[in-house]
Amino acid sequence: MTDSTSDDPRAPDHPEIRAAVRALCAKFPGEYWRAHDRERAYPEDFVRALTEAGYLAALIPEAYGGSGLPLSAAAAILEEIHKSGGNAAACHAQMYTMGTILRHGSEAQKRRWLPGIAAGNLRLQAFGVTEPGSGSDTLGLATTAKRQGDRYLVQGQKVWTSRAEHSDLMLLLARTTPKEEVRKKGEGLSVFVVDLKAATGGENPPVTIRPIRTMINHATTEVFIDGLEVPVADRIGEEGQGFRYILDGMNAERILIAAECLGDARWFIETARKYATERQVFGRPIGQNQGVQFPIARAFAQTEAAELMVRRAAALFQAGVSCGPEANMAKLLAADASWAAAEACLQTHGGYGFAEEFDVERKFRETRLYQIAPISTNLILAYLAEHVLDLPRSY
Ligand SMILES: Cc1cc2nc3c(=O)[nH]c(=O)nc-3n(C[C@H](O)[C@H](O)[C@H](O)COP(=O)(O)OP(=O)(O)OC[C@H]3O[C@@H](n4cnc5c(N)ncnc54)[C@H](O)[C@@H]3O)c2cc1C
Repeated sequence: MTDSTSDDPRAPDHPEIRAAVRALCAKFPGEYWRAHDRERAYPEDFVRALTEAGYLAALIPEAYGGSGLPLSAAAAILEEIHKSGGNAAACHAQMYTMGTILRHGSEAQKRRWLPGIAAGNLRLQAFGVTEPGSGSDTLGLATTAKRQGDRYLVQGQKVWTSRAEHSDLMLLLARTTPKEEVRKKGEGLSVFVVDLKAATGGENPPVTIRPIRTMINHATTEVFIDGLEVPVADRIGEEGQGFRYILDGMNAERILIAAECLGDARWFIETARKYATERQVFGRPIGQNQGVQFPIARAFAQTEAAELMVRRAAALFQAGVSCGPEANMAKLLAADASWAAAEACLQTHGGYGFAEEFDVERKFRETRLYQIAPISTNLILAYLAEHVLDLPRSY
């Protein structure tokens, strides 16, 4: 993969990677995404093309078969996919879930899984954190993993586990010490790598996956776990420290999702701009009316500002500096910008915004997710209020 920087300070970073991703995405036009959306089908060909081109291994170090690129390169890849009208949600998680193995796994674990993920033979796309009783309140999760000799016996249920049907492995967060017995409230949870294919195969498998039909094509599921045995060797890091490891990965997740929002915003702005220029009403382009121009211009300004925060958060992350506030603000601002752009684009299209063939309604539904997942807007605001502004904890 060729990578360089431009002398123009306004030019987007990673220009070669961006151009190559755009060329790949051109093979997957609106019709492709529309057809998959209609059927709620997994975009297998797109994920394979992305994998074969090495993009999903961008962040895996060269020593384990990846490209060893910085987070900003992964952000550029995801942004361009969304900017081209596609959706990286079918596979984006692998970019940040593998970071948990990379940062906290043993050398043996890294050698066992990362080269396979980098080569595309193994998919680590499922991330089992949320449960029916714990979404925002992760520490309230009820799935347990009880140690029995050299194994853990796992019992519980996950929900919204996206891509579980299309993944070989799942990163699972489960409680190994009851909440009442931990010294600090963030302790007592552990992270495991679960071999999903083995766990769901054969007669009476310990793991059952049930798809959830949603307003977007997201391959999300419920995962029922009953008597799953996980070898101790498949636990990442220390027992009881899993929440900390997951939090470490969440900054990367927030920055990458923010990059997708930027891509969505750019798609909406360009689509709205083009339509506003072409559509004639009362004998002149609708874009000549300030009532049509201004929401698009405002969304553009919001997107430019959000991009600065995404870049800053990525730069801090790459420098190994703690970046919780910036990663959260990047996600908040970029999700708000993409939602403002979505609203402006739909409104600009009038009735045609509702027609499937324009792709606006699909992208509108897709970008709405980012006000809620992977973390809701309210929870980001609560984090900033408490941890940055030193206001009293609200929950
Ligand atoms: C399509 C989709 C895909 C997903 N994929 C995954 C995945 O792959 N893996 C995974 O683990 N999870 C996944 N999630 C789950 C996602 O992370 C959660 O939906 C999210 O964290 C919110 O949790 P919740 O839905 O339980 O909402 P709740 O926690 O029940 O919150 C409901 C609402 O109340 C608000 N709220 C709650 N508490 C407060 C408070 N104290 N102050 C102010 N407002 C509050 C929230 O902001 C939210 O708007 C996915 C969700 C969706 C919809």
